Amino acid sequence: MTSTNSTAPSSRHAGTQTLAILSALVIGVVVGEWMYRSNGALAVDSNWMLAGNLLLLRPLQMILIPLVVVAVIHGISSIGDPKRLGMLGLLVAAFYLGCMLCAATLGTILVETIRPGSGLSPEESARLLALGETAYRSDATRLATLTANEATGIGGAWSGILQQLLPKSPIGEAAAGNTIGVIVFSIMLGLGLAAGGERTRIAREVIDGLFHAMLAVIQWILWLMPIGLFCFLVGIIGRVGLSSVGGAVGAYMLVVLLGLFIHGFIVLPLLACVFARCNGWMFMWSVRRALFTGFATSSSNATLPVTVRECTGPGGCSPRATNFVIPLGATLNLDGTALYEAVAALFLFQLCGVELTTTDLIIAVLTATLAAIGAAGIPSAGLVTLVIVIAAVNTSLAGRGVDRIPVSAIGLIIGVDRLLDMARTTINVWGDCVGAKIVTRLLPEADS
Ligand code: ASP
Repeated sequence: MTSTNSTAPSSRHAGTQTLAILSALVIGVVVGEWMYRSNGALAVDSNWMLAGNLLLLRPLQMILIPLVVVAVIHGISSIGDPKRLGMLGLLVAAFYLGCMLCAATLGTILVETIRPGSGLSPEESARLLALGETAYRSDATRLATLTANEATGIGGAWSGILQQLLPKSPIGEAAAGNTIGVIVFSIMLGLGLAAGGERTRIAREVIDGLFHAMLAVIQWILWLMPIGLFCFLVGIIGRVGLSSVGGAVGAYMLVVLLGLFIHGFIVLPLLACVFARCNGWMFMWSVRRALFTGFATSSSNATLPVTVRECTGPGGCSPRATNFVIPLGATLNLDGTALYEAVAALFLFQLCGVELTTTDLIIAVLTATLAAIGAAGIPSAGLVTLVIVIAAVNTSLAGRGVDRIPVSAIGLIIGVDRLLDMARTTINVWGDCVGAKIVTRLLPEADS
């Protein structure tokens, strides 16, 4: 099967595009902050967000499910042997789990060392928690989801995943935008195509052609990225206002950003250096457009087409590894989310003046990892599954006779969540790229 990428942009075009993206980033922040200061906070559904959705998010969402089907079938049918696929699956799962545990542990160490939620007067804590309670109840739909998640806990999240793993109808799952069920179906079809030998050769060639056609479409969508990014930034900064972020919540944000920075710029590049034998930072630069798309859209799922495009193109990963690792990773491997969930939960316990034991911290690390696996790759999914971490630590506290904290405390961080979501989604996407690079080395294209 051909795997060369004839749709790759020339380096001059890639340079122009990078410059446009960086300019959009800076100008978007400046314009958003200026609008916040001069006109007050923008609405959640401002026209800027609408424009960002139309220009960037929706075109990517439109191509998401067809691409997942074609990419996974393409990748699996070229791996072929189910035994080999099983081994690879185990390796990839171990990599995902290891990275997420590492990220959640890093977040826990940072938040427990810096303690952004400690040292407040009881009056200040009470004031902040009252503000959180109001924000928590301000959106009926979100409140219903959060309450349901608190009630079903980690078991509910996992039973949801298990049900998606064996879908009754792949078409139904595709229509609902549930990627897991579509991936499972595509893996089976890919294995069937590989097992069919000469009789299914034409179908495999059609899939190969479709895959390369989709890479071309993604390349076109990418040209809209700077404008989409600009609109999203104006909409988000214009709503939150950088100047309004301060105090304990500002310190909490800095801890999350510091953790994401360490994980993204040190841990993951080092993993790429060691296991993929490449310069991790150079590789990061080569897949930058996927990272910028994750940043702009706050959705690993919507970014998936660009991640596939960038890994197989400038990132130098094999289509076979990319098409297996990236779709699974966009749904299950959320390093940034795991780190964020640990920091956010422990920050709220600090704010409520609760002293946690080592056992509580271990529970926080484990549930943050599991909650991140259970979170979908869509905006604010991590915020919704955060209640699972809080509920788990609360249960541990209740076992020792310590008062639980109110789950409504998360209202305090809802306002700044989208800003952190952009950063953690970038790291989620980056973690998937590193996985694809490592698997490319473990399973070279020539070795079939
Ligand atoms: N927005 C994140 C993602 O799509 C998930 C989260 O909310 O943490 O990867």
